[in-house]
This record gives sequence, C-alpha cells and structure tokens, in this order.
Amino acid sequence: MQAFVYHIPTRVIFGKGTEAQTAEQVKQAGAKRVFLVYGGGSAKRSGLLDRIQADLAREGIACMTLGGVQANPRLGLARQGVQQAIEFGADLILAVGGGSVIDTAKAIAHGAACPGTDIWEFWLGRQKVTASLPVGVVLTISAAGSETSDSAVLTDEVTGTKRGLSTPFNRPLFAILDPELTYTLPRYQIACGIVDIMMHTMDRYFTPTKGNQLTDAFAEALLRTVIANGPAALENSRDYQAMSELMWCGSVSHNGLTGLGAAIDFAPHKLGHELSGRFDVAHGASLSTVWGHWARYCLHQDPARFAQFGRQVWGVTEPDDQSAAEQAIQCTVDFFHSLGMPTCFSELGVGVQPEEVLYQMADKATRGDTFLLGSFLPLNREKALEIYRLANC
Ligand code: NAP
Ligand code: FE
Repeated sequence: MQAFVYHIPTRVIFGKGTEAQTAEQVKQAGAKRVFLVYGGGSAKRSGLLDRIQADLAREGIACMTLGGVQANPRLGLARQGVQQAIEFGADLILAVGGGSVIDTAKAIAHGAACPGTDIWEFWLGRQKVTASLPVGVVLTISAAGSETSDSAVLTDEVTGTKRGLSTPFNRPLFAILDPELTYTLPRYQIACGIVDIMMHTMDRYFTPTKGNQLTDAFAEALLRTVIANGPAALENSRDYQAMSELMWCGSVSHNGLTGLGAAIDFAPHKLGHELSGRFDVAHGASLSTVWGHWARYCLHQDPARFAQFGRQVWGVTEPDDQSAAEQAIQCTVDFFHSLGMPTCFSELGVGVQPEEVLYQMADKATRGDTFLLGSFLPLNREKALEIYRLANC
C-alpha cells in the first residue's frame, strides 16, 4: 500500500427531503450572498430551484442565479460566472444540478477568490489554485461524483479541449443528496451515470500497485452494488431503493476511497475526454465507448488483475486467469450494452473516423506525445492511437 492522505471534508446530507436544509447549510457556513448555478432547466421545471430560492430568501440570504450550464460545461460560461460572482460579492457558490453544474460552480469559486487570474490557467496547470470560495451542492443526478470529488472538468469550447483539474480546493463544503431529486432523469442519463460511477471505480482499480486488500474490497463491493441496482433504476427511475444506492455509490466512487493507497490510472477517462471535447458526446457514453478496447489492449499487462475483477465483481468461475480476464471484459462490455450504452464509435453516433482524426485525438490526449496517460499501462501517443483504432468501428 502506498502512502496517502485521507481528507474528505465534504459534509454529506443524504435522504428524502434533505434539500429543505440547503438554506440552513448556507447559514451555517456564515454565507449571506449566494451565487446559485444551474443547468439547462431541469431544476427549474421540477420546482427545485424555486423552493431553494424561497428558502434562501426566508433566511435573509441574498441570491443571484446563473443558469444555462450545458453538459461538458463551457469555459466561457464559467468565466462569465466569475465576473458576475465578483460583482455580486458572492461568499458561497451553490450548485443545483449534476457534474457539469458543480464543476462550473467550482471554477467560479476559484476565479472569484483569485480575481485577475484567468481560470483556464488553473486547468492548463500554469497556475495553482491557492484560494476558493466555499461550494455547496444540491445534487440532481448520480454520475460524476463531483459533489465529493477533488476534481473539476471544463471544456474550452473554442479549441474543443476538455481538461480536468485536481486540487483539494475542489472539495465542496456540503453536498445534499436526495435520491428523489433524480426521479425525473431520462433513461439515457441514468445509464451514462451508471457507466461513469463504474469507471471512477475501475480507473482506480486497474493500478500497478499491489496488495491493497481493503481498497480492492471497497471497489469490488461498490461495483457489485451498481451492477445490482443499475438495471432496476433504468426500469423505474422512481425506485427509491435503486436510485438511493446509485446516488451513494456515485459519491463514494469518486471521493478517493476506492483508490486509497494505490496509483490511479484514469487513462480511459482521458481518452474519453477527447471524444467529448471534439464531438460533445455525454461523458458516460465516451467512457463505455473506449473501455472495452482499452481493457483488451491492456490485458497482457496484468491478466491476474482482470481475473480478480471478473471473479469478485462478475462472479466469473473460470480457474485460468487469462480466460477469467477475457470473460470479465466481455461481461463488462455486455453490461454496458444492456444499459443501451455505446461500445464503439459508430454506436456512439460519431461514425467511423479517418486516421487523421484518431491521430489528432491521441496527440491531444498525450499533449503532443509529452505526457503518458494512466499508470496501469502508461500510454504514449502511439498506444493511445492504437486504442482509438480499436474503438473506431
Ligand atoms: P450533467 O452534464 O451535469 O447533466 C446531464 C444532463 O442531465 C443534463 O442535460 C441535465 O439537464 C440532466 N439532468 C440532471 N439532473 C436531472 C434531473 N434530476 N432530471 C432531469 N434531467 C436532469 O451530468 P453529469 O454526468 O453529472 O456530469 C457530466 C460532466 O461532469 C462531464 O463534463 C464530465 O466530464 C464531468 N465529470 C466531472 C467529474 C468531477 O469529479 N468533477 C467526474 C466525472 C465527470 P439540465 O441541464 O436541464 O439540468
Ligand atoms: Fe467521470
């Protein structure tokens, strides 16, 4: 087990009706001027936004809103939010929505606390985040895990560049998790969320670090729970049991617990980001598209690890590691299919791409072949390109 620091400071408030505690949480944080960020309208249509605004007003908390955050959230809107939050004198940024809204809120929080610095500098790694405003979250979709994660992902819409930023300043102050708020999710978004939750766990599980029994067990249990509850959630989005399990799995999948003491990989996430950045496809769909190809390409690196994944997560009984590993990959790909998720470019809806596009994505992901993706099997440009070729069908 590798050395680690475990500090997960987000206060999680879980259960039915917990969004009624939002104003109380803001007050407890000592905030008086809330800059509320939301998405394309689902929170407005459900009445959630109105309820939260009314509660804030009742507590004498001033509130300014910024709506219109799109999936694969845009840098331009986040920059606009920074300006508005500064002018408003915001002392807390409240995200009401999913990963895209939360990540925009995190960006606004960093920008508002560091006036004069262009926020993209943080995402390019040219500046370090040294201060931020507190971020509160009312979650409406189980997927990204951004409500407890130390990461935030933005897309520069001008260049089609999608980048993640990891910093302890990305951890929200509080996260309100009411599974009933996810009842209105379209089936496709539930499926995308299931894939993302699994991938946050698997992108940690496939690691070169050996001998992490407890961390492995957390990850395997989380994956079994998602696999057991995902189909029921898709069948009926008002199934409280299934939706609540997914919601808690989502938060735990990306708060660090399932990768403690191990080098994380995240190569499939980075390969997926190029697809989302270029084609604006849903994050979860980009991940199911690349994972099976990544896995088959990497299998030779550690068949025993894939075999363990198969036995512990999928109940594979095959005694031979190589066969168990191959079965495990097939089980995962079949599961993604059963959710209606794509597993290659044509299923993703972007069509088979010319070699030149594959090269550009591999080049961008590896930053001109100066950067290796992942740790399980570190991928240079050529290896990344090879995986895109395999997915290009
Ligand atoms: P999202 O992009 O925030 O939302 C996806 C869609 O779901 C939107 O169209 C949204 O509509 C809709 N939606 C959300 N809640 C709803 C509800 N209760 N009822 C009906 N529709 C609802 O989804 P996400 O998967 O959570 O976030 C994806 C983003 O997060 C990607 O950019 C991904 O790269 C990033 N990400 C971040 C992290 C991290 O740790 N920071 C980790 C993984 C992924 P409205 O806009 O109308 O609300
Ligand atoms: Fe993700």
